[in-house]
Amino acid sequence: MGSAASSLPSPVAGASESGRPRLTVERLARRARQRRQIQSMIAACFVLDAAVLLIYAHAGTTSVLVATSYALTGLFLVAVYVLLSERGFHERFRDHYLVAPQSAVNMVNLLVFTYIAPEVGVLFLCNLFVVFGFGALRTSARQTAVVWTIMVLGLAALFLGTDKAIGMPTGTRIDRLATMLVFALTIGRCMYLGIFSSSMQQSLYQSGVKLKEAYRRIEELAELDELTGTSNRRSIMRTLEDEIARCARNGSTCAVALIDLDHFKRINDVYGHPIGDEALRTFAIGMFANLRSIDRFGRYGGEEFLLVLPDLSQDQAMRALERLRAIIADLDWSAFSPGMRVTISAGVTTLKPNENSDTLLARADGALYAAKARGRNRIASA
Ligand code: GH3
Ligand code: MG
Ligand code: MG
Repeated sequence: MGSAASSLPSPVAGASESGRPRLTVERLARRARQRRQIQSMIAACFVLDAAVLLIYAHAGTTSVLVATSYALTGLFLVAVYVLLSERGFHERFRDHYLVAPQSAVNMVNLLVFTYIAPEVGVLFLCNLFVVFGFGALRTSARQTAVVWTIMVLGLAALFLGTDKAIGMPTGTRIDRLATMLVFALTIGRCMYLGIFSSSMQQSLYQSGVKLKEAYRRIEELAELDELTGTSNRRSIMRTLEDEIARCARNGSTCAVALIDLDHFKRINDVYGHPIGDEALRTFAIGMFANLRSIDRFGRYGGEEFLLVLPDLSQDQAMRALERLRAIIADLDWSAFSPGMRVTISAGVTTLKPNENSDTLLARADGALYAAKARGRNRIASA
């Protein structure tokens, strides 16, 4: 059972026609192994209880036949379960452990044995707690209610429908020993189920934490440009729209800059595409190191970037861009390849009242075009 707790069944990618997750061969084999493990523990419980019944038989309280038939019935039920499980029967059901029907069958078995051998009824009735505790691990509230109802009806038939004296033997030392063992085994099994349940919860909790972290990472990756680590186009455009909305609400302003690397095609041609990639990354790092925390920077496409500068006037934005231009131009690009230089040009503009992103960007693009036309490595204002 222990390994079943650490490897709770979880959905595998894809779903079958029935809407349930489709499972890989390895997963199916693991589930079958988990079922075998649980059944071997149940078989061990039957054998242990039969041993206790033999102690009662030794005291003359019950017969050896009761002990052997209880062991054989238990082992028969386990064998049927394992046989069906190995043939894949259990995989047709949502709960592949078939906990609810198994609990119901075991409960009926215990009630029948209480009827047959009421003189040692305590052993069978105590086992009801174990079966019920086991069932509660995986059954739904509705299934639990059904199993409980079966149990109550069975108990009512037994206690009210018959006048059998259901015994808790304490007449002799040996009886007292066997009865003590019944309680010790029952409490031990309930304790084990409690530990199993909490380890199941723990592993569920850990899976939840891991899933949350994975979702957070996926979301983060979906927003970032893989090469440069800047926001991707979708993300920076959303940021721009949000900023425009914020300005409209607050009556504040913002500046934007479209930045393009100069003669980048030539850099690729002369130094190679991998060096071009490195240059893009280094440019992004250089920018990030010199932006305010509220500025937003993203890859607009190719070697063109969009910078959103909240609360800056045109003059302030021009000064900021001029400073950035100088920083990028002064980086030691020759470390990549002797004689290499990388410069940027940018078109800067500020948001006008009631303006949308299209006209704002078109104006910035016009300014960028002007900066290129005037010889590159410069900032133009619109
Ligand atoms: P200009 O100064 O007028 O902007 O000249 P340019 O050569 O930079 O302009 P153009 O738009 O013709 O070329 C851009 C080049 O940027 C072409 C393309 O191969 C390169 N580029 C775009 N994305 C990447 C990238 O991810 N990695 C590398 N290495 N190069 C890229
Ligand atoms: Mg360019
Ligand atoms: Mg370009």
